[in-house]
Amino acid sequence: MKQHIDTAPVWEGYRQDCECPMCLLHARAENANVSYFLGESVMEPSQRVEVNEKGFCAVHFKRMYDVGNRLGLALMTHTYMKQTSKRLSDIASQARQAAADETGKPIFKRFGGSRGAGFQGPVDALRAIEESCLICERVRENMERYMYTVLYMYRHEAEFPELFARSKGMCLRHYAQALEMAPKHLSGDLLKRFVDTLTDIETKSFERLDGEIEWFTSKFDYRNQDKPWGNSRDAVKRSINKLCHQVIED
Ligand SMILES: [Zn+2]
Ligand SMILES: [Zn+2]
Repeated sequence: MKQHIDTAPVWEGYRQDCECPMCLLHARAENANVSYFLGESVMEPSQRVEVNEKGFCAVHFKRMYDVGNRLGLALMTHTYMKQTSKRLSDIASQARQAAADETGKPIFKRFGGSRGAGFQGPVDALRAIEESCLICERVRENMERYMYTVLYMYRHEAEFPELFARSKGMCLRHYAQALEMAPKHLSGDLLKRFVDTLTDIETKSFERLDGEIEWFTSKFDYRNQDKPWGNSRDAVKRSINKLCHQVIED
């Protein structure tokens, strides 16, 4: 990668006290993309073509709806709807054909493993339309870029490894992404140090959260009601965010 490396957002993310700095960067990328697709640049013809082809998933349609730029969203949804209607007419004929084929089978062939096999095509096509999302695609690209930046900084920025070692690790999704990308961009002792450090803080974070969420449950015992909460008050939220990725916002 020879592009410009923007380290500022990663420094900023790693200076926050949180369970996964990558989740902060994920939220940042998601917000930027939601604003972008509701902004004027999306009216450019090439961008419209891509929107019409890929559309958005349920989560991101909802996010854009909640922002409230209804005219921009209406224009995009209208043309995406038109394009989807065209695809739907093909899928609809496949579904009708599958039903006709199934009905036309001799009785002894209507049972067994291949029953309803002709429906798989239209089912897959419908699911592909529903899941396809331009914002998910862009956020995935942004996150690859951010993870690459973390690895780059680990290698080139003298003070970063220490800050990284003081972080609380990552959520499982981003831990997996780090392990996937680390061997592509780091090697030798540096790779080992990065993976060992991350794995160490990850394991310790799970042990710490285990204790915090256990104390949360113990606080429901009347004998503990006057004892201090410590760090346990938001332990359920932080544990869920650690197990998946940041699904519950602050
Ligand atoms: Zn994360
Ligand atoms: Zn999406």
